[in-house]
Amino acid sequence: MNNLLLELNEQQLAAVTITDKPLRIVAGAGSGKTKVIITKIAYLIQELEMAPYKILAVTFTNKAAREMRDRVNKIIPDLITNPHISTFHAWCSRVLREDYELIGLAKNFLIIDQSDQIAIVRNLINEHFSHLTELKKYTEKKIIYRIGNWKNDLISPLEAMEDCYSWLERAIATLYLKYEEYLKTIHSIDFNDLQVLVFKLFNEHPETLEKWRNRYDYVMVDEFQDTNDLQFDLIKFLTRDKNNLTVVGDPDQTIYSWRGAKVDIILNFNKTFSNGISIVLNENYRSTQKILDLANDFINNNKNREEKDIFTNNESGDLPTVKECQSRNDEARYVTLKIKELIKEGYEYKDIFVLYRLNAWSPEFEKEFQNNKIPFQLIGGIRFKDRKVIKEANAFLRTLATQDEQAIERVLKSIPKVGDVTIKKLKEKAQDMHVSLYDLIVNEDELHINQVSKHLTTIRSVLSKAVYIYNESKNIRVVLQFMLVESGYIQKLIHTEKKEDISYIESLYDQLENFDKSYQSDESENETTEKIISYLQEEALLNSDADDIEAQKVTLLTVHAAKGLENKIVFVVGLNQDIFPGRLSSNSLREIEEERRTLYVAITRAEEKLFVTYIKGEFSFISQAELAPSKFIKEFNQDLYQFEGRYQKSINPFANTSHIGEKTSQNQSKTTSVGYMKNDVIEHMIFGEGVVIEVNEQTMKVAFSSCYGIMPISVTDPTISKK
Ligand code: ATP
Ligand code: MG
Repeated sequence: MNNLLLELNEQQLAAVTITDKPLRIVAGAGSGKTKVIITKIAYLIQELEMAPYKILAVTFTNKAAREMRDRVNKIIPDLITNPHISTFHAWCSRVLREDYELIGLAKNFLIIDQSDQIAIVRNLINEHFSHLTELKKYTEKKIIYRIGNWKNDLISPLEAMEDCYSWLERAIATLYLKYEEYLKTIHSIDFNDLQVLVFKLFNEHPETLEKWRNRYDYVMVDEFQDTNDLQFDLIKFLTRDKNNLTVVGDPDQTIYSWRGAKVDIILNFNKTFSNGISIVLNENYRSTQKILDLANDFINNNKNREEKDIFTNNESGDLPTVKECQSRNDEARYVTLKIKELIKEGYEYKDIFVLYRLNAWSPEFEKEFQNNKIPFQLIGGIRFKDRKVIKEANAFLRTLATQDEQAIERVLKSIPKVGDVTIKKLKEKAQDMHVSLYDLIVNEDELHINQVSKHLTTIRSVLSKAVYIYNESKNIRVVLQFMLVESGYIQKLIHTEKKEDISYIESLYDQLENFDKSYQSDESENETTEKIISYLQEEALLNSDADDIEAQKVTLLTVHAAKGLENKIVFVVGLNQDIFPGRLSSNSLREIEEERRTLYVAITRAEEKLFVTYIKGEFSFISQAELAPSKFIKEFNQDLYQFEGRYQKSINPFANTSHIGEKTSQNQSKTTSVGYMKNDVIEHMIFGEGVVIEVNEQTMKVAFSSCYGIMPISVTDPTISKK
């Protein structure tokens, strides 16, 4: 232990050893905040002899939680019990699994993910609101987001319905009611519910709250700057008047305001915990001096912030590079070339992050890396668990464990010869007979619905046998394999030559095999399907953030997923206007400042070398315009980076920083060679009538009155004419 403490600087040491007052640590990126939490866990266990399981450490992403667990295991390997290190959501799920009854949850409740939510909302719209074309125009995601906000603000469907200012809002509120009713019928909750229900549990059941307060002797929160009100309430429930809380965060890294994170929570910490003390960490241990200089200088452009005084004793390092590329493909080729050089210099693939603002920015890199045999992993793209084939396989397990209607419907759809028409008939029949779909298929005698009944008979026998096999073997992999083969599902994959899908199923078998091996059943819970439920819950909690950073691969990920992580080499790509900052966030100061913090997070992931790239001139549907450098590049201090143009010996166009803004405004009033001007009304053969809102060299932006909205159009497009 002493060795661990010796590594710390004076402020870090204080942050670790002060345990009798609420403690807030505010510090910049790379200053050792997470290190403080990890060392403090060890200190509490080894020096203060606290039982590990009485320590709770909460962080934001599964990846960060996993990394924290690994680091604790490394410094104190022989623990009999483990400290509880998890995300807010996973911790809430743990609480609800123990006290589900008090708030009316079913024992085997499931957590649905966003794709389930989308499917449910879509069904509800079709069922109840098919006449409302306005509502149909709304994307399911927007509706889910709205419902999520109501939930987080603890507004019930009925309250939401009373408080509507438009009929559309009322329709969405009604949809919220139907959505809640439906979730109840399938014994499920969504991600927002996790926190809301724990809040309700603690709020309405003082004796249960007391139990959980006693459960933890010490509580720590990492990335506290991204906490929302509800999460802070939960923390307060656990720690108020107990002086057993340490929170760490960096207000300059608040990047989740769009999900309700409030930086005021960390700034006003002492208002809530009046005897709280604050510690500031000033030394950055992560990055070279030059990377740090650029980051600190850049974040100074934000007006709403407190200045920090950060220094590093690390070596000076190379100047960060800003590179101009002519196309998205050119950008990917540049990064590929650089990676090859870096490998020659002795770096490894795993030392490299490629960070972008939007997932949609990755395909060029995937393609270029593949062609150049650069091993890479994509984090946050289509993940394993989101693949159709995995969802279908899991639906078999869900059917077995919970018999929920959505799952069995998915199973029916996935087996040969059963289609929507049959499923619709089956559902009607189940409703007529007042039985569940599962009961109808497995237990009812009269299933002769049409000529496909043979296939239904097969699935009936598979499901009945599966229950028996599972009870005998208690092995999830075995029972799944049985169901997939016997139902004809695997045969169908083979038949359609979906080789890739088959290998995903094989990979799922591997995972289940591991789960089966490592699962320790809690003796009080020996209900037969408990283990499958645990597996499904764990799987649902694998949220969109980073998976394991595998040994020898370049990692492609969004800036948001990279939060808290670090790597020797960092490429920040696509630093383009309307991409980073995004198209929708370019308007308000508040949003621009959040985007600036996001770029600050990106830059501060780098330890040794930083490359920033942007594209100039190519037309992109994502930005709905010709790509132009991000205004953030103009804000970089020109003395703090080196510029690489498209050609050797290019002159830095940002050296005189007044250029960019002027250029854009010039562009806007310019007439193209074909003669279009801003405000011209044009007619397009497919998109209809529109108004030109911006004119560039090759393309212009046109706002169409049809549902296409704003679109980029080539100025030489033969299908347009001036009106
Ligand atoms: P972020 O804001 O990005 O989450 P952070 O403040 O949590 O950063 P850490 O990840 O804890 O910073 O630390 C950054 C790096 O500095 C890590 O590699 C860590 O091991 C190292 N580090 C932190 N403190 C010290 C120290 N006192 N001596 C040596 N290395 C340190
Ligand atoms: Mg950290």
